[in-house]
Amino acid sequence: MTPEKETAAIVLDCRDQGESDKIVTFFCQQVGRLSGIAKGAKRSKQRFVNKLELFSSLHLTYSLPRHGSLAFIVAAELQSSFLNLRKNIALYNAATVIREFMLIGISEKERDDRIFEILFWALQSLDEKRPHLSIVVIFLIRFFEYIGYRPDLSHCLHCSRPVSAQGRYGFNYTTGCLICAACSSQGFQTIIPLSPGTIKLLTTVQHQPLDRLHRLQFSTLALEESLNMLHRFGRQLFQRDIHSWEALRREGK
Ligand SMILES: [Zn+2]
Repeated sequence: MTPEKETAAIVLDCRDQGESDKIVTFFCQQVGRLSGIAKGAKRSKQRFVNKLELFSSLHLTYSLPRHGSLAFIVAAELQSSFLNLRKNIALYNAATVIREFMLIGISEKERDDRIFEILFWALQSLDEKRPHLSIVVIFLIRFFEYIGYRPDLSHCLHCSRPVSAQGRYGFNYTTGCLICAACSSQGFQTIIPLSPGTIKLLTTVQHQPLDRLHRLQFSTLALEESLNMLHRFGRQLFQRDIHSWEALRREGK
């Protein structure tokens, strides 16, 4: 084992291992995605109790093995359990979508503090009972950018004309780019309609600092278009269904 290390961490997954242990997956500041074993966590009444719940924000002490991949979880100090988002089904479903994207989009040891910051921001925002669908949209726009798939919302991919407020556009979810109405009439199948107002709002999400994102107001149309686009883009990117999406949309109505 290496010397003990400490980091801020958020619990993304936790499952039982054998009679008494738990395997926990975290996303950590400066460390990225980290999986570790919490010895005795199933039985221990003190050391880990109520700390390894999904979404909890922790101060984690761990050490790394010389061989193998699982870290050894030495201690976990609870920073916030984000209690409000556990008490409300819509908030919880939004957090669950965010968690699913984190788990399928980020590999072990992959690290980026911008992802840690937007993840923490999103969970905290849900805990503050802010509009949950807007939080999902903002999280996903930034998340796709940080994993290297930033939606290009500045111009039409085919004719290169910049977006105008009078134009009509669609998002091509196989390329991650916009197509204008004139170009799409030439036949592109994989297009989600996006109005200029939604494009402008999403572009603002890409550029604003985190502490100003709560000022953005999403209309019903902007939310619908954004969620539709991000869902299809995610499914295309990861080549699989987003299992938690249906519950998010059901509760969001
Ligand atoms: Zn065009």
